[in-house]
Amino acid sequence: MQDGLSSNCHIVRRNEKGQNPLQCNRARDSVQTAGPTRKNMHQNGNGLNGNGLNGNGLHGNGLNGNGHGRLPGKVAIITGGGQGIGRATAVKFAKEGAKVAVCDINMTSVAATLAEVRNNGGDALGFQVDVTDKASIARMVEGVMFAWQRIDTLVNNAGIVQDARFSKMTDEQFERVIDVNLKGVYNCTKAVVDIMLQQNSGCILNASSIVGIYGNFGQTNYAATKFGVIGMVKTWARELGSKGIRANAICPGFIETPILDSVPEKVLRSIEEKVPMGRLGKPEEIANTYAWLASDEASYINGAVIEVSGGVTL
Ligand code: NAD
Repeated sequence: MQDGLSSNCHIVRRNEKGQNPLQCNRARDSVQTAGPTRKNMHQNGNGLNGNGLNGNGLHGNGLNGNGHGRLPGKVAIITGGGQGIGRATAVKFAKEGAKVAVCDINMTSVAATLAEVRNNGGDALGFQVDVTDKASIARMVEGVMFAWQRIDTLVNNAGIVQDARFSKMTDEQFERVIDVNLKGVYNCTKAVVDIMLQQNSGCILNASSIVGIYGNFGQTNYAATKFGVIGMVKTWARELGSKGIRANAICPGFIETPILDSVPEKVLRSIEEKVPMGRLGKPEEIANTYAWLASDEASYINGAVIEVSGGVTL
């Protein structure tokens, strides 16, 4: 337990009264069965052992908690962790020694990510979180604090596309993408910032896009959100830098994940031809950048907007 934080954090105090935050998001979780008590959480390390949504019970003998890796003992929350870049990031963070909270609106995909983390000897908890729903975010933060008593890194990765050329774009398409990609980043960061301020440390990593810098055909809504994320990152870097909290954004190019499923094969091939490296990116190449930014190796990087695109914008 971290000194200072656990003693005055209402999240932990509420749990001492017997509430069980890790049951909060279980309503639609068909995999999980029994909830933990505070006592067995500490005995088991994560309190969800034996039900398929837990970490791996390998505390101390996996890659975590043994001082190895770039992120030893750090606690990370990854939104949209169920697939694509989020899943690769969860696995990478765990391999680097972090404890990982995998959050996604899709609980089946969360279970799959947890299994992959577990197979790599990592330590993770899963939460059903809709980043547009502040109550589900609060329950997740409460659960993370209950289990691990700190939050070192938030990766605001969850994102969607609903493309249409501007003349055809509906208000619903515009507003939904704003709600998830922009307000979702605001909601999640708002939910952890006081904890990071109490710790005098933290790292807020955010998924922007090259589309946020250059725009893209059919992506008025998406471009607005990704440009907006950069604005928030630069503001947080200014406001929070003196408090030990760094905020940075990554602008991926075209990365092979399910988000590209709706893009016709022919278009993908033409994109590849425009990339000087001659290929699309891999989710692991974004995950590696997040892990480096979250590590102490990036201790002076704040307010940066880092393009990871194979040079497609050159
Ligand atoms: P993806 O579609 O494979 O994964 C996105 C994840 O977010 C999914 O697991 C999904 O269930 C989850 N999600 C969606 N709405 C949610 C909500 N309301 N609450 C919680 N979770 C939600 O996408 P990806 O390619 O892995 O993209 C990850 C991030 O990177 C996104 O923000 C995306 O905009 C950004 N990005 C991706 C690319 C790319 O080419 N793949 C390029 C630039 C930026």
